[in-house]
Amino acid sequence: MSPGNELINHKELTEIKKIFTKSDGVLFAHGFDKRRKNIFRVRKFENELSKKFNSKYVQCVSSGTAAIKVALKALGVKHGDEVITQSFNFIATIEAILDCGAKPIITGINDGLNMPVEELPKLITNKTKAVIVVHMLGYSAEMDKILKYCKKKKIPLIEDNCEAVGGSYKGKKLGTLSDIGIFSFDFGKTITTGEGGCILTNNKKNYLFFKRYHDHGHKLIKNIPRGIDDADMPGFNYRMTELQAAVGLSQIKKLDFIIRESKKRFLLIQKIIGEKLNLRKIYEKSEPNYDTIIFKIKNKSKRKKIVNYLVRSGVGTKNLPDAIKWHFAYFWKHAITKNQLKHTLKSKKILEQYIAIPIYLSISLKNYERLSKNLLKII
Ligand SMILES: *Cc1c(COP(=O)(O)O)cnc(C)c1O
Repeated sequence: MSPGNELINHKELTEIKKIFTKSDGVLFAHGFDKRRKNIFRVRKFENELSKKFNSKYVQCVSSGTAAIKVALKALGVKHGDEVITQSFNFIATIEAILDCGAKPIITGINDGLNMPVEELPKLITNKTKAVIVVHMLGYSAEMDKILKYCKKKKIPLIEDNCEAVGGSYKGKKLGTLSDIGIFSFDFGKTITTGEGGCILTNNKKNYLFFKRYHDHGHKLIKNIPRGIDDADMPGFNYRMTELQAAVGLSQIKKLDFIIRESKKRFLLIQKIIGEKLNLRKIYEKSEPNYDTIIFKIKNKSKRKKIVNYLVRSGVGTKNLPDAIKWHFAYFWKHAITKNQLKHTLKSKKILEQYIAIPIYLSISLKNYERLSKNLLKII
């Protein structure tokens, strides 16, 4: 569970019910204008996202994975191209790259568990079409370094911000610092629409591509009925539905509360274990979304004890190491080449030392206090 899904209640249901009362059950993002009395929920959700995250354009799609694919397509990524991303990641980025016919090129991670900018010069070739940096588990990547480098090399940068919605760097929301930002609203993410995602950009050309590509290439010209609308490029169907957007409209109102409450828990745990345990560094001038608190333990047997305790307590260890197979390239022999896998060995040694405690709002401050104190007893 994660905050967004923990907070689902009558408010989401009220939003869903409105679809059936006011607009006669139109579940599609486009058209049916007369029936729906001019209520377009996906459009409304996009506007809310645009305001909340201060991004000029937002395109909602069916998932975070689809969002990455559409973003890569907008950048013209095709067969034979290369896209650089990091080893500590979620497999979705790799799948999106492969789905464009391109080759994933994998960086290691540094001790802050972020993409090390120093590795980029060795990996860039004339086939490199984009870099995807990932803000893992709520923490900002080293954005100034990565941005500066990609700008210098004129390589488009995508931020996969599926796991850090609401976090920021230098006062700007994560996902809005680079050319294109990606959010996921799947059931495990900070705010959820069940399945869903969105793409953020300030670039109109990119946005128009997202808008068209995710909807069969439709030109979507105003006042021209969908049935006779033109297309001059093939796209796909990655549309979000009105049902998802209704849930999203309610969830987005809960985001500030989620971050505020998560922060309280994060700071409490930090205060108790921070001196004894080596916490993952929060990158300078950034603020996480407090989804997870991460620390390092070198001693293997102590590490094992702590993981066992966290699992037994029912809290678990969100990805580190719980679901590591889905979040670390070392395990993706089916998707990346042997040569690329080699880059992950050093990262494996680093990542193995870290443990992540997920922050749930259903777990009280008192219980996190007890949990943290018990952790100190174990080490
Ligand atoms: C969840 C996630 C995605 C994919 O999102 P879906 O909506 O589940 O397709 C992509 N990247 C990262 C880092 C994620 O955590």
